[in-house]
Amino acid sequence: MDILRTIREMKDWSARSGGRVGFVPTMGSLHAGHLTLVHRAKASCDRAVASIFLNPAQFGAGEDLAAYPVDPEGDRRKLEDAGTDALFLPDRREIYPQGFKTYVQVEDITSHLCGVSRPAFFRGVATVVLKLLNIVQPHTAFFGEKDWQQLQVVRTLARDLSLNVNIESVPTVRDADGVALSSRNAYLSETERVSARSLVRSLDTAKALVSEGEISAAVLRRAIREIIERERHTDVEYISICDPADFTEREEVRNATLIALAVRIGRARLIDNCIVEAKRCNEPY
Ligand code: AMP
Repeated sequence: MDILRTIREMKDWSARSGGRVGFVPTMGSLHAGHLTLVHRAKASCDRAVASIFLNPAQFGAGEDLAAYPVDPEGDRRKLEDAGTDALFLPDRREIYPQGFKTYVQVEDITSHLCGVSRPAFFRGVATVVLKLLNIVQPHTAFFGEKDWQQLQVVRTLARDLSLNVNIESVPTVRDADGVALSSRNAYLSETERVSARSLVRSLDTAKALVSEGEISAAVLRRAIREIIERERHTDVEYISICDPADFTEREEVRNATLIALAVRIGRARLIDNCIVEAKRCNEPY
């Protein structure tokens, strides 16, 4: 695996590589979710490039930038084992040199869900993703559905700015107990980890209720909240039942509807989501 630390090196590598480059941007501390994205890139492109960049622009004051887990050696080994062809590993000054002034703001869809408590988050994400896409010049970039809102922000950015890249999404990869893999799970104590299972359990319950015919968002939200708040250490930030593209709240489940959660458990802020679809009236249950 080639390791490229400067923009020039990365651009030259991509220009030389020939064929379709599949790209997986990450913030490091890699787990099987990230590696699934790399496998998808390998499977559908000629070369797979990953980046590790802990992007300060997407962290607000008082958030966990300084505490974010890092594992450079482990990450390198995992990417190598996954068959990654190149790793882009810039430092902060390479991405944000002295005098950096340009930020990208995707409007409207960033003011819902995670955008409420993290007002600068998506501006930081959109800015770094645009930069990374310009540097790596991939044919296709891969993003996880665990970060559903981020995925929509990236899709919108690529469409609105006419970027020459395909955006592909990969379903959420979960641990054996159902908890969505996340670098931030490292913050959880053993008992907090048990509480973290309530997120996926509540989503599964909501799915089951919808498949039994329940369409009221209020009823679903109450059921989800009860399951999560029964556990210790949990502090629900939002439970949203909304349009999966623009995140406007829905009173009833119809067509494809997103159920998205953010819950603080100890030091960790965890998110999870699923898509549900109401059965049509004439469909047999
Ligand atoms: P991060 O390092 O957290 O910024 O994530 C890098 C990429 O991996 C993003 O596209 C995430 O959506 C994706 N990702 C993170 N966790 C998972 C997961 N459990 N399953 C699938 N994709 C994931």
